[in-house]
Amino acid sequence: MKRVLMISEHADPSAPLGATDAGGQNVYVDQVSRGVVRYGYTVDIYTRATTPDAAEPIAWADGVRIVPVPAGPPGFLPKDAIWQYITEFTTRSMALAERSGPYDLIHGNFWMSGWVGTELKRHLGLPLVQIFHALGVIKREYQGDADSSPPERCDVEQSVIENADLIIAQCPAEADDLVRRYGADRGRIRVVPSGVDLMRFFPIPQDAARAALGLPTEGRMIIYVGRLQPRKDVENILRGLALLRQAGCTVPRLLVVGGETDDASLDQEPEMRRLLGVAADLGIRDLVTFVGRKPADRLPLYYSAADAFVSTPWYEPYGLTPLEAMACGTPVICSAVGGITFTVADGETGFLVPPRHPEALADRIQTLMDNRDVRVRMARNARRRVEEHFAWTTVAERTAAVYTELLEGQHHGTGASGTPG
Ligand code: UDP
Repeated sequence: MKRVLMISEHADPSAPLGATDAGGQNVYVDQVSRGVVRYGYTVDIYTRATTPDAAEPIAWADGVRIVPVPAGPPGFLPKDAIWQYITEFTTRSMALAERSGPYDLIHGNFWMSGWVGTELKRHLGLPLVQIFHALGVIKREYQGDADSSPPERCDVEQSVIENADLIIAQCPAEADDLVRRYGADRGRIRVVPSGVDLMRFFPIPQDAARAALGLPTEGRMIIYVGRLQPRKDVENILRGLALLRQAGCTVPRLLVVGGETDDASLDQEPEMRRLLGVAADLGIRDLVTFVGRKPADRLPLYYSAADAFVSTPWYEPYGLTPLEAMACGTPVICSAVGGITFTVADGETGFLVPPRHPEALADRIQTLMDNRDVRVRMARNARRRVEEHFAWTTVAERTAAVYTELLEGQHHGTGASGTPG
């Protein structure tokens, strides 16, 4: 067995998903770590300890351990606050790696762990493969002054790109950004799209799903699943629904899954409170229900209960939730941004709409709600597309191939395209 030192400073696979800073990266680290075991690797996931007593590696799955690394105060820290403790995280990681090693390769996640990875690479003489999950230059472009990333972020990304042996991009658009915005060497980029657990996310008959969730079986319903970050722009969905109501159309209800607690406690949810205020101002408060965050094993019920999944972020580096919805046979309506333009086939598995465009969204919601035949066709296509191109098992196989390439030192060829078409 070869040993992987996976670094993910803020995204711990054991954290509850749907809350601030716990989303797609946590799922990626979890699924890839478990998946590569089949190809002869064991994985230690180094992540910042959030409890004061964390000391020993924790057995997490077959062949996978979580190694809590003390750095900064115990307890939750927003990811942008972790950078100030990154030297401590690195020093502790080196000591732990010397004690728990030897390892064969390092897999860095996000820019901060990329930096830790380059330090460990130098110290331990190991090859480094890096995946960013999101890029600072893009974030700054879309969020402007609201971007709370440390000012060093883009320079650090630049140096990680120069020092990593191979870089994994989740979609061709990300590979292009790495090349155009950071001058990355395309020959060292491998496109490996992230995926879905097809055994977990599968279609459930809508009536049964609604009954299991205690939802009315009658009436149309759309669903949003994800973190309640402003960039996810749930407000745009509210505005789309309000337009439909103003036009006198039959308007679907909206269920919102995600948040800090599993019972949608408004006290802890400024964004939820704000969105409810917007819904009330728009005259659609009666259509909107927040249910809080839900564990992954409940999500297939939610996706399957809906007539469509809707997510219209300003930008999205990749986006796992549209894939999960498609795996459950639910048509999607999503912003035509980032990874979503790669995963969603417009007109086939759902519709792509421009971000910040409630009129276009309203139009597509109405089309889907009014056309059962279109929904049925898209539902079928959606599941098929995910099965063909986006299973985590495929991601694990391709990631293991990147590891092999890294270990054999053959990483100066041309980048794979990874295009599903
Ligand atoms: N998620 C979850 N429960 C929730 C909300 C979200 O398990 O209540 C999961 C969701 O299923 C997905 C991940 O969190 O796997 C979100 O990943 P995505 O790539 O869509 O967005 P990110 O959070 O990375 O921006």
